[in-house]
Amino acid sequence: VVNQFAALGEDFFSRVEPAPLTNPKLVDVSPEASELLGINTEEHGESLVQMLNGEELPQSFDIFAMLYAGHQFGSWVPQLGDGRAMTLAQIENPAGELWELQLKGSGPTPYSRGSDGRAVLRSTIREYLCSEAMHALGIPTTRALALIDSDTPVYREEVETGAILLRMAPSHLRFGNFEVFSSRDQPQQVRALADFVLEHHRPELLDNEAPYLQLYRDVIHRTADLMSQWQAVGFSHGVMNTDNMSILGLTMDYGPFGFMEAYNPGFICNHSDQSGRYAFNQQGDIGWWNLAALGNGMLSLLDLDQAKEAIQEYKSIYQEALLTRHLAKLGLVLQREGDGQLIEDWFKILQQQSIDFTKAFRALSHFCLGSDTPEALEQLFTNSGDFRHWIERYRIRLAEETTSDAERQQQMLATNPKYILRNYLAENAIARAKQGDYSEVTKLREILSRPYEEQAENEIYAESAPAWATGISVSCSS
Ligand code: AMP
Ligand code: MG
Repeated sequence: VVNQFAALGEDFFSRVEPAPLTNPKLVDVSPEASELLGINTEEHGESLVQMLNGEELPQSFDIFAMLYAGHQFGSWVPQLGDGRAMTLAQIENPAGELWELQLKGSGPTPYSRGSDGRAVLRSTIREYLCSEAMHALGIPTTRALALIDSDTPVYREEVETGAILLRMAPSHLRFGNFEVFSSRDQPQQVRALADFVLEHHRPELLDNEAPYLQLYRDVIHRTADLMSQWQAVGFSHGVMNTDNMSILGLTMDYGPFGFMEAYNPGFICNHSDQSGRYAFNQQGDIGWWNLAALGNGMLSLLDLDQAKEAIQEYKSIYQEALLTRHLAKLGLVLQREGDGQLIEDWFKILQQQSIDFTKAFRALSHFCLGSDTPEALEQLFTNSGDFRHWIERYRIRLAEETTSDAERQQQMLATNPKYILRNYLAENAIARAKQGDYSEVTKLREILSRPYEEQAENEIYAESAPAWATGISVSCSS
């Protein structure tokens, strides 16, 4: 157990103590995350609950809440910080990697700004399930080891119960950690943070005459790629403030996120986002905006012209990454003129006919040149004329490829997931958990850990939202 970040000193955080919940109950543990840490959670069940509840923590833990600032919905907020998250320690796993453990919901900190420092069961289940589901989809993300529920009342729109998530990442540093010190005109602290990231997370960049510029470019590349990955699975983060943007390019701080069902590029998952600043089709541009804010925050370390040049590359990196992912989703290996149009027209049909994004790509994955259009694919479309016209163009385009039907199918089924965390599935698991039955959380976690497999017994979890659930919107109150 170490804590390298704590060694940076108290300019960067405040030491805190977790405030335990009453009657903590284990909801679920992620075996994949446990394995990553090299711990046997079955053996340590009781001590795991105690650790999540912040009780009897090892002496070697040096617990703190981080200081950061951020741009929230475009407006500058000079001070934020972990208002309900606490870093416990870094644990070295058997592979020699360091994983930083954080509790979320473990009580107030100096950065709670008058709020209670708690997280309710509902939002904790959502973050837990989505972290592990994103990982299984192959998308960079913070991980989640386990969560507990309790009898502690927490007051939101109604009384709910307090929960705590144990999340983990190589580092939870955000763009906002840099922004807070640059806004206070503290370039030494900005430099210390950059040095920290370089030394502990990107040592390969130190071998360069301009390591800070390389670090900035690294974040630009990773963020562009992350945005393309979100677009490729229909994921909408919902609150892309700079304090929710990871310096390592991880998806983090799951709040009112949503997976799009019926394809709608303007999809807004967060009902507090009236202007649609963080709508699905804005995420690529917002990535750029946030990176510009980071560049500004790192400016004391960068040459202005070089920083501008670096961020100018973002748009082409993002567009290229997105095109590559879209081509892969269609099973196209070669790049041909007209592919962009083919992709665009496919999305146009999905949008006009409100077709489920995930189901459409999954059904298309079963298309074979050697046989008729699969019935399950054709049945998704209400205006079959437009669809048939498009599929004939697709057939002609596929004929130019050199891959066999079988190879393409295998590649597409490994690219287009069958199971995603649909909102109504999460809502179902949450409703049961509120009654004290946590089994659906476990079941969903298991299904979503194999998103590309058929799982015949779980077919119904691949369905779009039933009518009762299509109106669910998710708020920031969590
Ligand atoms: P978020 O929009 O969830 O990323 O939160 C924005 C800021 O508000 C972060 O600094 C959070 O730590 C803080 N925050 C959110 N909810 C609470 C809460 N219940 N108690 C204390 N701080 C909170
Ligand atoms: Mg946040």
